[in-house]
Amino acid sequence: MRKMTEQLIFLDGQLVKKEDAKISVYDHGLLYGDGIFEGIRVYNGNVFRLKEHLIRLYESAKSILLTIPYTIEEITEIVLKTIRANELQSAYIRLVVTRGVGDLGIDPFACKNASVIVIAEPLNLFPPELYETGIKIVSASSRRNRSDVISPKTKSLNYLNNVLVKIEANLAGVPEALMMNTDGYVAEGSADNIFIVKGNELITPPGYIGALEGITRNAVLEVACKKGYDAKEGVFTRHDVYVADEVFLTGTAAEVIAVIEVDGRQIGTGIPGTITNKILAGFREIVETDGTKVYE
Ligand SMILES: *Cc1c(COP(=O)(O)O)cnc(C)c1O
Repeated sequence: MRKMTEQLIFLDGQLVKKEDAKISVYDHGLLYGDGIFEGIRVYNGNVFRLKEHLIRLYESAKSILLTIPYTIEEITEIVLKTIRANELQSAYIRLVVTRGVGDLGIDPFACKNASVIVIAEPLNLFPPELYETGIKIVSASSRRNRSDVISPKTKSLNYLNNVLVKIEANLAGVPEALMMNTDGYVAEGSADNIFIVKGNELITPPGYIGALEGITRNAVLEVACKKGYDAKEGVFTRHDVYVADEVFLTGTAAEVIAVIEVDGRQIGTGIPGTITNKILAGFREIVETDGTKVYE
């Protein structure tokens, strides 16, 4: 791995030094949160589910009528090239597409060229010891964006909804908080999906509740089914979370992390559960081998 001071960032066709990776104050990504992103991980030189991430990126783009100035094959190569340029084996990749430079009006048609940014660097969302002990969380009073207002399926740069939830977590002194939708059903964390375990069943909220259909979540559903658990989508409330045997969160940045307390209610025995640990082990197995090779 290169020194962080030599980090290279892909910005509109070029690899530039971190200190030179700058965009205009007229970029609508900054002025209006008008843009989309993906968070991707590379493990041991394998980019995990790159194709799925890029399909979601192009779907987000289509939904907001944003033209990405590259084909999916070209973006694949750009992501791999950025990882190679930074000599990384395991890292987090942030792929951002902004509407680009426009004027002070909202009108996106003033923006002629979308900007494409790829940042690759090591990242632990939570301190490593929390993956052993599990985390305490609270439920947030901020509600998930309604699907009929801004679709939670669009991974947009408009993340105030999620930022407000993270602020609630910070104020409560915990690393993450849980978001309900406007009907009070559990949706997800600030940027991660939730699973509850009851007996042999693993349940995660469906997309229409307001959960982003996470790639980690989908991989965990597969891992759980392979291990013989009854893993499925289902609608549930905070009560079901409180009385679950086990609770865990999933996301590209968060990976798989156990939750041991919610709103002061201890979950199960107060330590990461057996099923959570098995899922985590199964997930670690697939990410090490299953992916797009960066180095041949
Ligand atoms: C990205 C994201 C997730 C997790 O999705 P992954 O594809 O697993 O990274 C969950 N919720 C929100 C709101 C997100 O933005």
